Amino acid sequence: MNIILFGPPGAGKGTQADNILKNFNLHKVSTGDLLRNEIKNNTKLSNKIKSTIENGSLAPDDIINSLIEKILSDKKFYNRLIFDGYPRNLSQAKNLNLLLKQFNQKISCVLCLNVDKESVTKRILGRQICSNCGLIFNKYFKLATNKNHTCDPKFLNKRSDDKEKTIINRFETYIDKTLPILDFYKEQNLLHQINGMAKIDQIFVEIRSIIASLEA
Ligand SMILES: [Zn+2]
Repeated sequence: MNIILFGPPGAGKGTQADNILKNFNLHKVSTGDLLRNEIKNNTKLSNKIKSTIENGSLAPDDIINSLIEKILSDKKFYNRLIFDGYPRNLSQAKNLNLLLKQFNQKISCVLCLNVDKESVTKRILGRQICSNCGLIFNKYFKLATNKNHTCDPKFLNKRSDDKEKTIINRFETYIDKTLPILDFYKEQNLLHQINGMAKIDQIFVEIRSIIASLEA
């Protein structure tokens, strides 16, 4: 079973990816991790990747495609992948289909977490991370109180990159880039839209029942 997970920044995609990994025997593919691995292992591609990152641009499709090919050709991950944050555009999605075919695999389902812009902004802007214990709170949704948190409030920090403009930008970029990909998977009857505004546990119940129906 291979799964693709989509969701705008702040939709809780990372949490759900972890839930899926824990409950099903899957391997997570994140292109960010793949790129960092290449650099760490000083591979042939690493210089090209470094210069791209230094320019502040996204890794070009050809690099991403060859990294994905490496994973798909690896027997240990055969048919047990969850793609997180990939494909990023239609051309990557089309290439993924070709590669999957080549390695005798397919996508089992595409899960898309949906949230509206206002809530996602609050989720991200309100997020507070305790630098002492690592717990995460939110000043709109999950206030830190003396019942759920014992550290001094001075340890509660907002993430430094959490500026409203950046967030809205990232959200809009996500929508622009992702809608055509979602249409692509919808045409293949693979797309499942999930209400990302529900509680984390509830969202996972829905995800689990979708995956269970695929295994049945
Ligand atoms: Zn704390």
